[in-house]
Amino acid sequence: MNLHEYQGKELLNSFGVRIQRGIVADNHKKAVEAAKQLATETGTGWWVVKAQIHAGGRGKGGGVKLAKSLAEIETISESMIGMMLKTPQTSAEGKKVHQVLVAEDVYYPGENEPDEYYMSVLLNRATGKNMIMYSTEGGMDIEAVAEKTPHLIFTEEIDPLIGLQPFQARKVAFNLGLSGGALKEMIKFVTSLYTAFVKSDASLFEINPVLKTSDDKILAVDSKVTLDDNALFRHKDLAALRDLREENDIEVEANAAGLNYVDLDGNVGCMVNGAGLAMSTMDLIKQSGGEPANFLDVGGTADAKRVETAFRIILQDDNVKAILVNIFGGIVRCDRVAQGIIDAFINMGDAIKVPIIVRLQGTNAIEAKQLIDASGLDVISATEFQEAADKVKEVLAS
Ligand code: GDP
Ligand code: MN
Repeated sequence: MNLHEYQGKELLNSFGVRIQRGIVADNHKKAVEAAKQLATETGTGWWVVKAQIHAGGRGKGGGVKLAKSLAEIETISESMIGMMLKTPQTSAEGKKVHQVLVAEDVYYPGENEPDEYYMSVLLNRATGKNMIMYSTEGGMDIEAVAEKTPHLIFTEEIDPLIGLQPFQARKVAFNLGLSGGALKEMIKFVTSLYTAFVKSDASLFEINPVLKTSDDKILAVDSKVTLDDNALFRHKDLAALRDLREENDIEVEANAAGLNYVDLDGNVGCMVNGAGLAMSTMDLIKQSGGEPANFLDVGGTADAKRVETAFRIILQDDNVKAILVNIFGGIVRCDRVAQGIIDAFINMGDAIKVPIIVRLQGTNAIEAKQLIDASGLDVISATEFQEAADKVKEVLAS
């Protein structure tokens, strides 16, 4: 689950990470009120208005704008709220902006230009450790930095059992070229950031830019926070921050039905039990000349109700030209699944307009095939993996 910038910043702030302060608003009147309140609290006379969508690169797309007066706050936020914002990270039509964050301007012209750094905390699966990735080249595309000047990206690995050691936080601050007050501030920043990452069961924190102001304060100007869905049950407060408007409608519906579904771009829908089998089924579809339209793990209990829900979800995707059902009967019996498929078909009337290839293997596979073949329904049955692949190929070609 992803958080909005403003939610991520609030989370960081609650762990003592210094942030660029801001107030979120969903219309231009509230935006002006927010700006006034910030002026009182922080003394700022300039602000930035930042579109809150789940995508980065907003600056490039016109989703981050400086406002030098309350009148500018009003015009900028009025045009930003409700717009479709296109950034390098959104689809071609962009994402609708429902809210803006009105934030204090922290790039106030001083004697020194503020410095921008990059910092992220993530899990390094290869080493089984947490990792802080950081760079002096903040504010820009980190991918571009990685490509052109990889020596300017540093990593610090942290043993999750031991935690971040003080020498590691100091090393990060030194590598960023800091000294004096800024060095102390950065040590505190890194330490609190890491604590926030662990305590919130996050899988990614990305702060780009981290800013050093002209008076040596270190603060988070942006935040991208991804939380581990599997740990959300112990963070009810964070789970409540979920913004369903930012998520794929079909995925939301599937998750609500307890199905593990990921929407993809291809033309062959698949319904499989077990994540491993689902992955190999997707490979199979590719090898037979198709492209998977989704990843869908229906789990262990492939009964009629679940199968029907899964069919309905797969069929919401207009690109689907065929559906491959690939179920291994280990604990669940294939004949029960077959009956489930038949019942779902009958229930759905003529809602299914694409060819269905069903492969049932494992306990009672033969009985299952007999049931399907005898049902008179327009379902192509297969027992072997390759046989199923060939049939997918055939229906795609016809
Ligand atoms: P992103 O483009 O989605 O990553 O959004 P960011 O929050 O990183 O903002 C993009 C850029 O806007 C930053 O890299 C800064 O250059 C600029 N920016 C952000 N906050 C301020 C601010 O307070 N004042 C000024 N002048 N620029 C800012
Ligand atoms: Mn950014």
